[in-house]
Amino acid sequence: MSTNKPDVLLVMPLPPYARAQIDSLYTVHDRTHQTDPQAFAGVASKIRAIVGSGEAKVPRTLMAQMPNLKMVSVIGVGYDGVDTAAANDLGIKVTHTPDVLNDDVADLALGLMLCAARRLPQADQYVRQGQWLAKGPMALQRKVSGSRVGIVGMGRIGKTIAKRCAAFDMPISYTARSAKSDLPFTFYTTAKELAANVDFLVVITPGGAATKGMINAEVLAALGKDGYLINVARGTVVDQTALIHALQNKTIAGAGLDVFDGEPNVPEAFFALDNVTLLPHVGSATTDTRKAMADLALLNLANFYAGKPLVTVVPECQ
Ligand code: NAP
Repeated sequence: MSTNKPDVLLVMPLPPYARAQIDSLYTVHDRTHQTDPQAFAGVASKIRAIVGSGEAKVPRTLMAQMPNLKMVSVIGVGYDGVDTAAANDLGIKVTHTPDVLNDDVADLALGLMLCAARRLPQADQYVRQGQWLAKGPMALQRKVSGSRVGIVGMGRIGKTIAKRCAAFDMPISYTARSAKSDLPFTFYTTAKELAANVDFLVVITPGGAATKGMINAEVLAALGKDGYLINVARGTVVDQTALIHALQNKTIAGAGLDVFDGEPNVPEAFFALDNVTLLPHVGSATTDTRKAMADLALLNLANFYAGKPLVTVVPECQ
């Protein structure tokens, strides 16, 4: 069917709103590079933009197959799956959707802190399984308000988490690549030092090579048997084997995880543990926020095709 809608390559399935919008404006080649490489080769030169979610894998080899590719629009703030160095080499701009998801991800971080310390999922099970009636009140749990929180990554979302923690009267400290002189929180140069001084260690850095395995066995040991790990960043930031070991041996008190290394595959070892809450990467997964993310990604695409400046180019491609 002939159409004058611009061709875009979709590299990940999209939620219904984003998919409907993009279908109405573009000719969408939905993962054709994987499902039908021959058909893809036939249209590759027409494709000037790639669209994908935050987990999208866009390696150099894929970008190099589209000689007129000029843009990768990520519907998400993290873009660790996109080879930005290759994009720069090939003259391709990468955009993402910062800020519009800060509230949701920060809300979820607090939710996971409450789940970990107050054991809310276990309490729900306690009622459903009739244990309340059979055994009486559930065991007492840990208080969250007033506990010390350490935030690994004090960027847009880290600051939004800090705002919520302040309302919980929590002393706040953090680590990042650099100290923030405008923030009234305690800075530690390493995650290990930070972990040694807090009750909750909340991880919210980007993924990718620079942060891979940053939360390792040493950091978990520093967090200690009364400390909780919350990861709403990327699974790769935490050494998953070390974390399972720490949870199994109760060398940390518990964890709340929204992300996993190798997701959606989650190591079965986690399923046997009752000191961890497991979520299927739902940090930004509300209707309002996913719409805002899609709208920002679509605005970047529309500006690109109209020859206007892109709104939210990732720092590496500015
Ligand atoms: P951001 O504003 O860029 O903040 C990132 C923070 O991480 C900054 O404070 C930065 O330090 C710090 N950082 C970066 N590399 C580091 C390193 N090697 N060592 C220590 N700290 C490092 O990003 P954001 O908007 O807050 O988003 C953060 C990440 O959250 C995203 O990249 C994504 O992976 C994740 N995320 C997850 C979900 C979810 O669904 N669970 C949703 C959205 C985002 P400086 O300030 O010193 O540069």
